Amino acid sequence: MVADVSVVVRYRKAVTYGVHALLAALETAKVEHDLRLGTTPEETAEHINASEADRVLVLWSFYSPDAEAMAAELATVKALSGGRGLHIAGGVHATAEPQQVIDAGWDLAGIGEGESTIIALVRALQEDQPLTTVPGLAIKDADGVALRTRPAPQLPLDTFPSFLGRKGPIEITRGCRYTCRFCQTPFMFGGQFRHRSVASVREHVRGMVDRGLRDIRFITPTSLSYGSPGPDPDLGAVEELLAGVKEELPPHGRVFFGSFPSEVRPEHVTPEAMRLLKRYVANDNLIIGAQSGSDKVLAASGRGHDTSPVRDAVRIAVEHGFRPNVDFIFGMPGEDEADQAASIRLAADLADLGARIHTHTFMPLPGTPWRDAEPAFIPLTTMRELDRLAQRGDAYGHWRKQAEHSARLAETAKAYPRRARRRRTG
Ligand code: SF4
Repeated sequence: MVADVSVVVRYRKAVTYGVHALLAALETAKVEHDLRLGTTPEETAEHINASEADRVLVLWSFYSPDAEAMAAELATVKALSGGRGLHIAGGVHATAEPQQVIDAGWDLAGIGEGESTIIALVRALQEDQPLTTVPGLAIKDADGVALRTRPAPQLPLDTFPSFLGRKGPIEITRGCRYTCRFCQTPFMFGGQFRHRSVASVREHVRGMVDRGLRDIRFITPTSLSYGSPGPDPDLGAVEELLAGVKEELPPHGRVFFGSFPSEVRPEHVTPEAMRLLKRYVANDNLIIGAQSGSDKVLAASGRGHDTSPVRDAVRIAVEHGFRPNVDFIFGMPGEDEADQAASIRLAADLADLGARIHTHTFMPLPGTPWRDAEPAFIPLTTMRELDRLAQRGDAYGHWRKQAEHSARLAETAKAYPRRARRRRTG
């Protein structure tokens, strides 16, 4: 006998891209399910209570800074739904910290890329198979320990669409060959680029145009790496992508590339690349990752570039009509006052060249090589300089809020030492 399964999603704006990819995987694999989206904890509980299915699977996804707030929401939803439903947390935080997620009250943690896992999980619930057969899970054992099943595969990106019948940026590249020690992307999606084919991207665009949409954006760790396996951009591949997308769009259609929600690496900003973008894109800004004005800090962070290409990138982008938004992270491990002064100096120089500075505070994110690293102290003098840049309209960002997250993540990392984290089942 096949059981009916309801999939209830705690649907939050911050994580729609990943959720849409999971729902698209279920639809592509033609896995029967009844889908309900809960935009608040109360609505999520209502959907659980209203479901007439035999099994209710409740999907949660969140980033590390939101983990505590989501655990509180989970408690609310469970209380309002009388404990009905199997709650699974997925995404980068659950992948890095399955034990923490299980201790916080979720029944399961989804580890790694979720597409294969969600398909196998819903099928296992339908067919009453043990969940230990599902790849990419952490399951709570009788002692409350998170035991892992076999890893979920990292499949070619064309295997599943970014979304079906919905809207959002099209994921053109997954995984990253760079090794920035503060970043969760290589840990979550692997250390190689996997690019979506131009044919698959065009199919997405056709579907969006059919639904009356005209703006196309992309998700990628580094926009100008599209089509390339290594550090050098393949501008031919980028042009094939952009030209193909343009061909699918009506005349008033617009392509955004190298801007939100993606960015470009500074050494990829060349006159040739900018001339290419100018021929196709509608964005007037580019997001460029500089991260620090200190070569010492950049080397320690594994960025793979020093400060020298950053000034050039800003100058070249401005010369070609783009306003650069340049990311900086303050408080990276080992950063001292002189490093911070160098970052402030570089940020001010870039602002004079026409850039806006997007300021961040280092957060020791789970899964990254710097999970257990001590954030550097940010003295009042540095804070005042950042505020001064912001008051001039040259800087923006949530760096103060991130400083709070940073302190909380450091505390949690101490409570969950790395060595206690891996045990396998199945
Ligand atoms: S910060 Fe960007 S370039 Fe560095 S590893 Fe992360 S995604 Fe890749």
